[in-house]
Amino acid sequence: VIALDGSYNIWIVGFSFIIAYFTSYQALGLTRRIRSSTGKVMWGWLLVASVVMGCGVWTMHFVGMMAFHLNITVDYQILKTILSIVASVIASLIAFYVSSSEMTQTKLFLASCFMSAGIVVMHYMGMSSMLNEYMVISYNPLLWTASIIIAFIASYVSLRLFHRMNNTYNTKALKYIAAFMMAVAVTGMHYVGMESSSFWCIDPNYLNQAVNHESQYTLLVTVSAVVVITIFLTWLAQYWEQSIFKKMAYTDSLTGLNNRHAMNEIFKETGRNTDNIAVIFIDLDQFKFINDTLGHEIGDMLIQTMGARFNSFSSSSNTVFRIGGDEFMMLNYYRTKEEVSSLAQNILEEIRKPFDITGHKFEITGSVGVSYANEHGVTRNSLLKAADTAMYYAKNRGKNQYCEYNEHMETVVIRRMEIEKGLREALIKKEFQLHYQPKWNIETNKPIGFEALLRYTHPTLGIITPNEFIPLAEETGLIIPISEWVLQKASMDCLNWNRESDSQFIVSVNISEKLIESKMLAPLTLKALQFSTLEPRFLELELTEQMMIHYGQIIPEQVKPLTNIGVNLSMDNFGSGYTFLGSMNQMPFQTIKIDRDYIENYEVPTKKAVVNSLIELARQLDIKLVAEGVETKPQMDFLKDAGCSVMQGYYFKKPMPLKEVELWLKELAI
Ligand code: C2E
Ligand code: MG
Repeated sequence: VIALDGSYNIWIVGFSFIIAYFTSYQALGLTRRIRSSTGKVMWGWLLVASVVMGCGVWTMHFVGMMAFHLNITVDYQILKTILSIVASVIASLIAFYVSSSEMTQTKLFLASCFMSAGIVVMHYMGMSSMLNEYMVISYNPLLWTASIIIAFIASYVSLRLFHRMNNTYNTKALKYIAAFMMAVAVTGMHYVGMESSSFWCIDPNYLNQAVNHESQYTLLVTVSAVVVITIFLTWLAQYWEQSIFKKMAYTDSLTGLNNRHAMNEIFKETGRNTDNIAVIFIDLDQFKFINDTLGHEIGDMLIQTMGARFNSFSSSSNTVFRIGGDEFMMLNYYRTKEEVSSLAQNILEEIRKPFDITGHKFEITGSVGVSYANEHGVTRNSLLKAADTAMYYAKNRGKNQYCEYNEHMETVVIRRMEIEKGLREALIKKEFQLHYQPKWNIETNKPIGFEALLRYTHPTLGIITPNEFIPLAEETGLIIPISEWVLQKASMDCLNWNRESDSQFIVSVNISEKLIESKMLAPLTLKALQFSTLEPRFLELELTEQMMIHYGQIIPEQVKPLTNIGVNLSMDNFGSGYTFLGSMNQMPFQTIKIDRDYIENYEVPTKKAVVNSLIELARQLDIKLVAEGVETKPQMDFLKDAGCSVMQGYYFKKPMPLKEVELWLKELAI
């Protein structure tokens, strides 16, 4: 048996260290992603990191072997070579898996065990793969043990540093050091392991043979291939991650549509070439209501369904976005404007289609605004703003419609914004006023009560009519605190009149449908009655016929606690909706108010007939009747002859401020 001489090529040794360092650095970097992901993605990262690490250890070993020259022919057994790489990958996988979750001392220890075991097993399997029938290896037990200890300690330090890295700021430096330590674990183990081994030749015939170039060549090719695969894998994983992140960053998670960021990106791409671009802005009209009443889960599902419906409009010339909340947008390359308007119509139709979400059946509408790049500005902001303004305008005009932008809208929208701001301030500064219009009984020639009508004067825009500011207050939700104030103020004023003139006036307050929607009617009314100590029978709530049509199902339960204690209900603007005549007696109304339109046009035969039959109906159902908007004597005479005795209108008195009401009441008493 002859001892064999081994010698090292120091350059290749250095190269082997660089490989170990590079792959450790990559693999450790990849393990960070394992922590930040879950499920399949987590396993994907785990696999990539372990393949990179395993291949790194393997490559280092065989490059190290290339640096080592023995004066004997060396061959490598393919099967063992492959097995050694598999072992290395599996050990890395277990080590990374253990260290991927919340790190504890035990886990750190376990991970280091697996990591170093991988390195050691890989090394000694690699060594045994070069054995053949004329060669043996013996190991120095001390150095052999030292090689294992080095692998363990260096892995431990590396993993520990790397774990620290996630919790400190100085991450870059730590990552370099951690990778360095891992490289020390791999190369240190290898070369100390090599030191511990002595090579012996059994058959002197094989001695001093020339280097087997073919074998060295195969090894070189294999090693290079593995290095390339490692680099490719790392690159692929990073590319994949980037594209996933990009997709995530530009996709709305709820609907899968493009999001706001994607919109910015696309606008950047389109650049100046904006000739035939139309921006279509879409907003759902009743989304907030559904979200508030049916819950966010249903709201989310509604948005999802809506997103899918809108997605059907996606094409090479039409991109769909969800901007946020219930706002969607389409960017359309059009040929003719007719195309755009028919698209807008189709969108509205799509929104109107009934929904059935987990048993909740409902229908909603949307408002759509359109702007054209070549008319309304080429910059993204001006285009979006124009479409947004047009959408607001459509909403303002009664929803469920689309509007194309024009400059006039700008003034309308600015005015709205100013009024909205003014309303908020008025609420704080208590700048609202109530005017009162009497309801006159022509039989007794006395008022039976007053309707409270809200008045608001804007600091710069002047008097704003309720028909303008009430819808705005409703849209912004301000109507709730405003109504709270109206109910309290009207109740207190009524209490004062009744106390001073010793009469029994009823005060009527107009109720917004938003109070019904938000279920605030009963609580606010009860609060006002408690606050003012007005007897409930002196308060009347005016609900419009339109409200009965829309909220007929939920109104009875909401007014019940009020009618139970004696609060009166009146149906305002009766006749404007027609639908209610039939079921009139099923509703807890004491009074109906004939819509002003009938009084104004009482000479039109059909209107006359309706008024006559209404009066007859009220008589039979024992419901009180009030005619509103009586302006002239002929109107009054007609109503009187038809049998209506309570009237309200300019003919008797215009709505007046509180002071005037008090004076007027004093005069009446005289
Ligand atoms: P409404 O309930 O139908 O109120 C009657 C409206 O008719 C009042 O207009 C009143 O000034 C007007 N009016 C009364 N007599 C005549 C007449 O002889 N001829 C004409 N042409 N008009 C007459 P106003 O005060 O502008 O209120 C408009 C609407 O605003 C009200 O219609 C009501 O729906 C709403 N509103 C007013 N105050 C409040 C409030 O405090 N809360 C809520 N939610 N709505 C209110
Ligand atoms: Mg009214």
